[in-house]
Amino acid sequence: MINAKTYDYAIVGSGIVGLTVASELKKRYPSASIVIVDKESHEGVHASGRNSGVLHSGVYYGADTLKAKVCSKGAKSLMEFAEEHSIAFNKSGKLIVATSEKELPTLDRLLNNANQNNIRAQKVNAEEIKEIEPNAAGLSAIYSPDTGVIDSKGVVSKLRSLLEDDGVDFLWNNAFSHKLDDSSFVTKAGNQISYGYLFNCAGSYADTVAKDFGLAEKYMLIPFKGIYWKLTQSANPLVKANIYPVPDIELPFLGVHLTRVISGDVYVGPTAIPALGRENYGILKGIRLGESIQIGYRLSGMYLKNQNNFRKLAHMELSKYSKHNFLNAAQKLMPILKDSDLVSTNKVGIRPQLINVESGALEMDYILEHTPNSTHVLNAISPAFTSSFEFARFIVDSSPLLRD
Ligand SMILES: Cc1cc2nc3c(=O)[nH]c(=O)nc-3n(C[C@H](O)[C@H](O)[C@H](O)COP(=O)(O)OP(=O)(O)OC[C@H]3O[C@@H](n4cnc5c(N)ncnc54)[C@H](O)[C@@H]3O)c2cc1C
Repeated sequence: MINAKTYDYAIVGSGIVGLTVASELKKRYPSASIVIVDKESHEGVHASGRNSGVLHSGVYYGADTLKAKVCSKGAKSLMEFAEEHSIAFNKSGKLIVATSEKELPTLDRLLNNANQNNIRAQKVNAEEIKEIEPNAAGLSAIYSPDTGVIDSKGVVSKLRSLLEDDGVDFLWNNAFSHKLDDSSFVTKAGNQISYGYLFNCAGSYADTVAKDFGLAEKYMLIPFKGIYWKLTQSANPLVKANIYPVPDIELPFLGVHLTRVISGDVYVGPTAIPALGRENYGILKGIRLGESIQIGYRLSGMYLKNQNNFRKLAHMELSKYSKHNFLNAAQKLMPILKDSDLVSTNKVGIRPQLINVESGALEMDYILEHTPNSTHVLNAISPAFTSSFEFARFIVDSSPLLRD
């Protein structure tokens, strides 16, 4: 054993969820000792450093969901954090455009969510769409003035440095390996950590860590690959802010969209292509045989069961490996886009999506499971970045040992 140390709180994962949970704990218990272990050499290597950087307003989520409870408040907290620490963000607004009659009822449903969740959003007609985004298509749209974009990497790196200043220990290159007993675990690098309370915020491996605690029995995280293209410099001015399609409300993905990110570039994407590795960022990169076989097996089960219309999703998304089909998805939002307007990028993210292995269904909301002294964040899907500060408050509040 290289080292054995005891902490009040141990957190697995230095993505936005682990970092904001640590920040919330420090706020409540300033003298508590906290360690964050991560298998990587620095913060935000996975989803938190590879996302679209959009601060969602919350119109997508029904009032009875946990996402609705934490998204819009989380966005506000994150904007305040950015303001306080001079991190770039821009409340640039967003249009969700309906391009066919059959999408109109979903638009009404989103507007209803907005009303119930107290989110500013208004319906605009085809003429008004053109005033906001002169090149966007659409019969009708929802305009959300409070949607923003932020420098996600800037957020996680600032959180890390503030936590370090507050005395939080970071143990890099230390993957959680297995539990030793109910209050200690070892890392693959051989360190032993004892804790009073543990938070599992391991992103795409949160299910495997939770299973070691006897939890997440009916779940598995399945990776979906998000590839982005970018508009060329000459096409860049075609988009003012953020243009999204009407989503399929049976699915947790929002569809290929156009986003003017904080650097001023316009990204087009991401896809949600079923992938064969939790970190399969390239064609073969990140593929590990045992893991891929397990994922392949689950994906074929989902295909057969066809919950959430999974077959349609799989066909549609896999087809987006072709630039032609990807362009078609973008042209639905902006018909004047042409093939030469899109350039490939190395921006790619993986969305770990929780699947109920019994039913084959995609879980749509955040899910927490607990033991008496640990909390496991199992489905930190989008908009977990936006929600993070408020979600962290909820996570700490709902942890059995820490409840009043
Ligand atoms: C392409 C894409 C676009 C997105 N767009 C948006 C958006 O615009 N707005 C938004 O709000 N959300 C968006 N999201 C979602 C958002 O990025 C995620 O919900 C959020 O980043 C999840 O944070 P996390 O901390 O749970 O996971 P992660 O950021 O993946 O962090 C998990 C950490 O755990 C570590 N880890 C894993 N296993 C172990 C182990 N065994 N031991 C130790 N450490 C381990 C990993 O190294 C990693 O650092 C997007 C996601 C993707 C992929």
